[in-house]
Amino acid sequence: MANKKIKLFSVLLSIAAVLALCSSSSSAEFDEEENSIQRSQLQQENSELQEKRKQTNSQIKEKQKYSKELQQKISELSKKIKESNESIKNLNSEINKKQSKIDSMLLQIDDILELLRKRLRTVHMAGDTSSLEIILGAKSFSDFIDKSEMMKSMSEYDKSLIDSIKGEMSIISKEQKELKTKKKAVENEKNSLEQDKKEINRLSEENTKIIEELKKTSEELDSELKNNEAMQKELEAALEAYNKEKAAQARRERLKQQSGGSEIVVPQSGDEYVWPCPGYTYLTSTFDEWRGVNNHGALDIAEGGIYGAKVVACYDGVVFSTNDTCPHDYGKDSSCGCGGGYGNYVMIDHGNGKISIYGHLSGVTVSAGQNVKAGQLIGYVGSTGYSTGPHLHFEMKYNGVRYDPLTEYN
Ligand SMILES: [Zn+2]
Ligand SMILES: [Zn+2]
Repeated sequence: MANKKIKLFSVLLSIAAVLALCSSSSSAEFDEEENSIQRSQLQQENSELQEKRKQTNSQIKEKQKYSKELQQKISELSKKIKESNESIKNLNSEINKKQSKIDSMLLQIDDILELLRKRLRTVHMAGDTSSLEIILGAKSFSDFIDKSEMMKSMSEYDKSLIDSIKGEMSIISKEQKELKTKKKAVENEKNSLEQDKKEINRLSEENTKIIEELKKTSEELDSELKNNEAMQKELEAALEAYNKEKAAQARRERLKQQSGGSEIVVPQSGDEYVWPCPGYTYLTSTFDEWRGVNNHGALDIAEGGIYGAKVVACYDGVVFSTNDTCPHDYGKDSSCGCGGGYGNYVMIDHGNGKISIYGHLSGVTVSAGQNVKAGQLIGYVGSTGYSTGPHLHFEMKYNGVRYDPLTEYN
């Protein structure tokens, strides 16, 4: 950024130099080479910035795509977690079902034991005390079973009934255990899914941050580019102003020579001059064209199809001289000297020391003393006077001295 400031400063300096040149006409330093170097540096920077911005924008696109993928994964994981929860719920309900079966079987066994006790009390009347005491004292089914000695006193029926319940119970217990194992596995899977989801959420948040940062970078590059372009424009304007002033100085020099040494400064009109032959801008001869003895000192405008084209006043003024007496128009064998060589012409006084002359016209539509406005029709293009092909001779003078009409159209 510091570098930027220095550069901007030097750009402003070169603009100031041009302004100094314009106001004092002394040869203040506008360094054309420096201007060119600065412009090409800015150009170089511009393409680098554009490349960077391009890369950043493509990174943003990539990250946005990644973000979408992550969101997709998160929603897939969420779905799977939901399914796991469903599965756990179902397994729990099955485990509970098994448990209530086991519980009811335990009750069944209790009932059988109770019957057994009753029966043993009856046996007790016959006098087998020791076994009765032990069985009545058994605290639970397992306690009871463990006392295998006591099984002797059970009837075969009771034994096989309990064995059968015990067998069934062990199957159910085994099934229940399997369900619990399965549930544990599903819970583990669910935990791992939740872990994954957490991780992907983290990645997604990180990615969002990166996208925000890239967007910020892109915006910064945008504004740098804008600054850069503004500086380039300023440099170009400085160069243009310098070139314009240089051309104006050359013009002043020329006028000075033409007027025999005294300096003539053509005032800038500040108003828009109208091109005298609308639609036709090709110049077959310019102000400076050397004509053997002196300069052409005017513009010749000629283009295919120009014959008969409208000629208009270039600026407000009063017509002070016209000629429409030359009959020698296009198709003649050689030039004629009618109208002092202008052939049929119109001359307009613009009242500010400037006059304009339109020569070789095929027709004239205004007369001396008439007021005309800029853009008003005054005649038609022809080839009268010192001319062999249709063209408009457009000439301007300031205080009687010819000057380049093009300076009014810069
Ligand atoms: Zn003639
Ligand atoms: Zn001419």
